[in-house]
Amino acid sequence: MSRVALVTGGTRGIGAAIAIALKGEGYTVASNYAGNDEAAKKFSDDTGIATYKWSVADYDACAEGIAKVEAELGPVEILVNNAGITRDAMFHKITREQWKEVIDTNLSGVFNMTHPVWSGMRDRSFGRIINISSINGQKGQMGQANYSAAKAGDLGLTKSLAQEGAFKGITVNAICPGYIATEMVMAVPEKVRDSIISQIPVGRLGEAEEIARCVVFLASDDAGFVTGSTITANGGQYFI
Ligand code: NDP
Repeated sequence: MSRVALVTGGTRGIGAAIAIALKGEGYTVASNYAGNDEAAKKFSDDTGIATYKWSVADYDACAEGIAKVEAELGPVEILVNNAGITRDAMFHKITREQWKEVIDTNLSGVFNMTHPVWSGMRDRSFGRIINISSINGQKGQMGQANYSAAKAGDLGLTKSLAQEGAFKGITVNAICPGYIATEMVMAVPEKVRDSIISQIPVGRLGEAEEIARCVVFLASDDAGFVTGSTITANGGQYFI
């Protein structure tokens, strides 16, 4: 039987590319999403991948949603924590709501999704957790204090869980994408996009499929010795 992979935010953008790539590798894939039913239906119709609606910001909804996925498809052995949002504002203007929404989704969301699958992974002595962080979690970004703090938090969580999971066959890794040509980035005015591209040494935006191929590697049996690592996939824009 093929392994079950659950991708949060797996109906659009990078998450959709991850879900499609994992399906292509023979995994049984479930894609979670928050509220855009139309996009989820189109994604499911186009790919045949099952979609499940709940917010990763809600612990109880995650536990219920994961139980449903496991009842229908089998135990989750690969979890890709990809769901993420931005609520950008300069710090002197940021509201508590903008802070909370981003922390609840981008940081607590990773806890809320990982905690309910962790015991099962320990019991089965196998698991793959792959957290999609961001270049801006590594370097910080003006106007994104909330987002950068959450994404940096994801990297700390990744390294701690890697230590706890290692002797139980669970690997935990992160990917930090740079600017990727998703709808969000392609929607910005061409002039702004050009200025972003001018900061990327390879001279172009990344493709969602390039992040998906990193996930495919980290999910594979070949990556069993790779844990607690961060794959930096940003076209050379920033190194640490
Ligand atoms: P998109 O905005 O294109 O897609 C986001 C996905 O996440 C959608 O499926 C959305 O569901 C889902 N989602 C949002 N909030 C929640 C929630 N509370 N619960 C469950 N699902 C949720 O995002 P991208 O593909 O651009 O980004 C994917 C990840 O990559 C994010 O974590 C982002 O921070 C990170 N990233 C992106 C970069 C980029 O250049 N695009 C660069 C670096 C990192 P719905 O359709 O229902 O809204």
